[in-house]
Amino acid sequence: MSGKCECTACGQVFKSVSGFDKHRIGEYGDPIYGENSKGNKGKIIGYTKPTRRCMTEQEMLDAGMSKNDKEQWIVKAYDHNIVHKEDEIEEVAEEAS
Ligand SMILES: [Zn+2]
Repeated sequence: MSGKCECTACGQVFKSVSGFDKHRIGEYGDPIYGENSKGNKGKIIGYTKPTRRCMTEQEMLDAGMSKNDKEQWIVKAYDHNIVHKEDEIEEVAEEAS
């Protein structure tokens, strides 16, 4: 596994998993509890509708994210003068057989 993450839902590419996590918003759906005979919280009778989705490009920009020169989303403003070394992908050269 490399550090690059491509979202299968929206097709955007993220330089690191932190950016990927950031662009997934909403709720998974919460359990709804019924009442037992004493009027206390009983069994789960259903779940609220999940609202989990991807941010739009505009929402990601609004959240302070940006694309680097490789068209990968990063979690901060991209600065051409700064080498974002902390999560650089190490290319492993394949041996020619
Ligand atoms: Zn997505």
